[in-house]
Amino acid sequence: MSEDARKIFRFAPSPNGYLHLGHAYSALLDFDLAQREGGRFLLRIEDIDQGRARPEFEAAIYEDLAWLGLSWEEPVRRQSEHLDDYAAALAELDALDLLYPCVCSRADIAGASGARDLDGAPLYPGTCRGKRLARAGANLRLDMAKAVALVGGEVSWFEHGKEIVAAPQEWGDVVLARKDIGTSYHIAVTIDDALQGVTDVVRGRDLYEATRIHRLLQELLGLPAPAYRHHALVLDEDGRKLAKSRLSKPLRDLRAEGATPADVRAMLDLP
Ligand code: GLU
Repeated sequence: MSEDARKIFRFAPSPNGYLHLGHAYSALLDFDLAQREGGRFLLRIEDIDQGRARPEFEAAIYEDLAWLGLSWEEPVRRQSEHLDDYAAALAELDALDLLYPCVCSRADIAGASGARDLDGAPLYPGTCRGKRLARAGANLRLDMAKAVALVGGEVSWFEHGKEIVAAPQEWGDVVLARKDIGTSYHIAVTIDDALQGVTDVVRGRDLYEATRIHRLLQELLGLPAPAYRHHALVLDEDGRKLAKSRLSKPLRDLRAEGATPADVRAMLDLP
């Protein structure tokens, strides 16, 4: 198969903590699919939030994934080294007049209305839209109504081969450039998937709704749409997302207790 025809998969952890079973599940599913489908497998370090990223967590990601039996192409893309790419994308959106500065605090937004976004957070009511505030020290938000109108009202993607049609509007005017880091997860992930030629995004169900935003950004910026597979989250014994239970123990602790990669696969019900 030619290089061009091969699918490209990626696992994209944030080095904000040690990997646990939830990460192992995502990484192994991704890697196994890439193997099965004759695809390439990339690892990307999502470290735009330098206030939370730590070198020891990044080192542990390489160590834990190699222990699990994964291998990936080098060099690994580290988002903190590519802030110019994200700035260029933001400039394109700006040229379309789709961004505006916002100085509202979390408390301002929480107090402004009872409506919720798709993550259950208070929905931003658009307080700063049209105010022409200074940009210094402000977040930059997407003018969602304008953006959605530009792409014709809705977005769609293929999820496990089935077409999903969704309205990004339910997210409201999302922040695309945080005042502290000058970019955002949504911009960085969308740009990187495109620049790295990712064809298949395999990630947790917690990011399913965010795909509406990523597809909207791809349409606005003329980027290709990958296929998506959002997998079930690993839950703890009480059916909650991994929190402070035995299952949230770092992989390195399981390893220190004598667990093998085969034990990890068995715990995750993976072949
Ligand atoms: N960096 C994100 C996380 O660790 C994952 C991003 C993605 O897969 O799109 O949750």
